[in-house]
Amino acid sequence: METKYVYFFGNGKADGKAELKDILGGKGANLAEIANMGIPVPPGFTITSEACDFYFGNNKNYPDELKCQVDENLAKIENIMGARFGDEENPLLLSVRSGARVSMPGMMDTILNVGLNENTVRSLAKQTRNERFAYDSYRRFIQIYGKTVMGMPGKIFEKLLEDKKRQKGLMLDMELPTEDLKDLIERLRTTIIKETGMECSSDPGTQLWKAISAIFESWDTPRAIAYRAANDIPHTWGTAVNVQAMVFGNMGDRSGTGVVFSRDPSTGERKLFGEFMRNAQGEDIVAGFRTPQSISDLADFMPQCYRELSTISQRLERHFKDLQDIEFTIQDGKLWILQTRTGKRTAQAAVKVAIDMVREKLISGKEALGYITPRDIEQLLHPTLDSTVEKKVIATGLPASPGVVSGKIIFDPQELVQVTQKHSDDFILVRNETSADDFPGISAAAGLLTVRGGTTSHAAVVTRGMGKTCIVGATAINIDTVREEFIAGNKVFRKGDYITLDGNEGEVIEGKLPVIAFKPSRDLEELLVWTDLAKRLKVMVNADNPQDAKLARELGAEGLGLCRTEHMFFQPDRIDYFRTIIISENAADKENALKKLLLIQRADFEQIFEQMEGLPVIIRLLDPPLHEFLPLPYAEDELKILSKRLGIPFGRLREKVGELHESNPMLGHRGCRLGITSPEIYQMQVRAIIEAASELSNKGFRVFPEIMLPLIAHVEELKFLRDIVANTCQEVKEEIGAEGLSYKIGVMIELPRAALIADELAKFADFFSFGTNDLTQAALGISRDDHGTFIPYYLDKGILKANPFATLDKTGVGELIKMAVERGRKTKPDLEIGICGEHGGDPKSIEFFDKVGLDYVSCSVYRVPVARLAAARVAITQKA
Ligand code: PEP
Ligand code: MG
Repeated sequence: METKYVYFFGNGKADGKAELKDILGGKGANLAEIANMGIPVPPGFTITSEACDFYFGNNKNYPDELKCQVDENLAKIENIMGARFGDEENPLLLSVRSGARVSMPGMMDTILNVGLNENTVRSLAKQTRNERFAYDSYRRFIQIYGKTVMGMPGKIFEKLLEDKKRQKGLMLDMELPTEDLKDLIERLRTTIIKETGMECSSDPGTQLWKAISAIFESWDTPRAIAYRAANDIPHTWGTAVNVQAMVFGNMGDRSGTGVVFSRDPSTGERKLFGEFMRNAQGEDIVAGFRTPQSISDLADFMPQCYRELSTISQRLERHFKDLQDIEFTIQDGKLWILQTRTGKRTAQAAVKVAIDMVREKLISGKEALGYITPRDIEQLLHPTLDSTVEKKVIATGLPASPGVVSGKIIFDPQELVQVTQKHSDDFILVRNETSADDFPGISAAAGLLTVRGGTTSHAAVVTRGMGKTCIVGATAINIDTVREEFIAGNKVFRKGDYITLDGNEGEVIEGKLPVIAFKPSRDLEELLVWTDLAKRLKVMVNADNPQDAKLARELGAEGLGLCRTEHMFFQPDRIDYFRTIIISENAADKENALKKLLLIQRADFEQIFEQMEGLPVIIRLLDPPLHEFLPLPYAEDELKILSKRLGIPFGRLREKVGELHESNPMLGHRGCRLGITSPEIYQMQVRAIIEAASELSNKGFRVFPEIMLPLIAHVEELKFLRDIVANTCQEVKEEIGAEGLSYKIGVMIELPRAALIADELAKFADFFSFGTNDLTQAALGISRDDHGTFIPYYLDKGILKANPFATLDKTGVGELIKMAVERGRKTKPDLEIGICGEHGGDPKSIEFFDKVGLDYVSCSVYRVPVARLAAARVAITQKA
């Protein structure tokens, strides 16, 4: 039996259907599907990708049966359109387009108006009563045909066109009069002969077959090959070719063209939305010389067409179960649908459309989760820039914490605290980098910009937790703190000047710009409820204060996955106690400071347990290198002030700070190493946890404390500290009569060695939590604080596809995680395992965490809803 290579569509029926996408391509299958629904599409046929396969496999020859099948189907188009291909009086013109299985936007070719020649162009001019349009179409046809079929370099044509415009003193193609177009056409034709030794064919049949070959061959152009390689599209698929009757919206006042959406794509409102232009072709809308009219005007001007369009729009939406973006043309009172596809929409519209479609019973709640993306949620939770406003970007950095904020430049965090007490203005704190001392300033700032630092640096982690916009690693900014100004590009920005930070994109922008504020929406809340029914992964929050814990719970957190206790020490009323503990040589002072901190920590923990009632709370004991709590050894002024406050002689203080200074603190005296050398700090923290938990449990709250040890590399470290923690717990429990209180002791996997010995660690740990910030740093040997200076270059040059501190490096760090999960669970099959590094809020990383079988992800507050959606979507696709 003869192979079917050509599938017809039009006049209310089609040979193909959506399911035949693999051979008809996305476009061909879609046209067949809607033609079968009786939607009036210009008739046409699809040559399958199997024919393309044959063509490449047989020395660029067509299968024998193709010619006959094309002729048969061309005749069908002619009958429907009442016009003949090649007829000089009433010519049928054709479009020839590519159409692969998946869309490859702009990668392959399209040839319009196939069939135009010196004779048919005159008929087109007569039919459209627009000679200029006919000759301009012919000019474009020769250019595209010359380029794609005859291999002419496009630049030669462009030069001829430019020369012509220059000669006439014109700026735009549109302005060229008919006579000049005719002259230009002659020049194009003679240039083709000169360059290729061949004529641009006037024979419609030759044009059609050459166009079909050209489309097949456009599958194999270097740009298409590169695109496929980048998007994992197999080279063996090939493309289908769609040959379709051209229809014209510029055949007079009963014609027009436009685009409609089945719902408003910016608000999601359920109404026909869009615009059209009378007596015009698609290019006229794109060119922007005439202003299109609102689609509602079509109701007055051609009520019949408007009604038909509305009905079609609703039918298409019901059929495809999504908002449709529909292109149409009206040719002399007859409506044609050229294309329908899923409509792009704003985040706000995405939520409304999804929830409305559930209410309309068009889709289920779970299906609705596929209609919004984690990025939509991120946008909804943070202010965004009004995209209609012009902006001048003065520097770019790493988008450390999302949102958009405008404010006055200020450089000194202490001054910032003072001015915000008196003024209600918004300020952007601009620093080279930040340290614990800047915490009050960061709290008072509307946004934070740093020259150095990476996406897991102090500034980034702190601001993300606060939901405050932050850009780090904006290396193009040069700060002069003495003059209180910075230079970006060639321009000076002084204290008090306005700048805007776009933390979604990492752009620093000149001046104050309007932003679109976050509005909490009922619809979103309703939609997110479905995530809990769909997802497997639990979503916890990284939080270190009761306010964040409360907000996170409202946003759906199922526990607290990381409480960084040192963040509690950074606040101004506590930091000096902590400094006393690490610097003072007076035992009584130290003990006194420890007691003070115990009270403070206990109160903090009580409030956090209260907010997280009934849910697990994982508290990580002290982790960062000690220098983070101290001024730099050469910061004389700061040291002098501190010496007075702490009552430690200046010289001794400077010496002590110098001793604690490390050249590579991130690999130095930090994490569990601090707990081993200064167990009294961990003991104090454990006491605070147990006392707080017991206090609340006595009040009737259900508390589930879990104590976590950071930066473990050796099983002996874990055993040593586990003993200290367990003994302290026991001691406190006996002391306060809380024997029944249960708790867990777990370990952070933050170093490659810990991943390697996970089976050993699991023997002494109740749970694992991956600290992927440190694990990435250690595995890649890239400092989490300094990567801002070169990672953007790596991204730009394609050396890295994503910043590994934002999206998990699956092939490297991911392997360590996989191995640790396997080894850990070999020892303890039901070992609870989660991740609390910044990757816990990144949708692409979440997909991986789900796959390797983690129990939960933990992320900063504002990313909780994002993570819930991402976890649900991955679970749904896994099932499918
Ligand atoms: C980590 O390293 O991933 C982590 C969560 O700990 P921190 O960021 O506090 O070092
Ligand atoms: Mg860490």
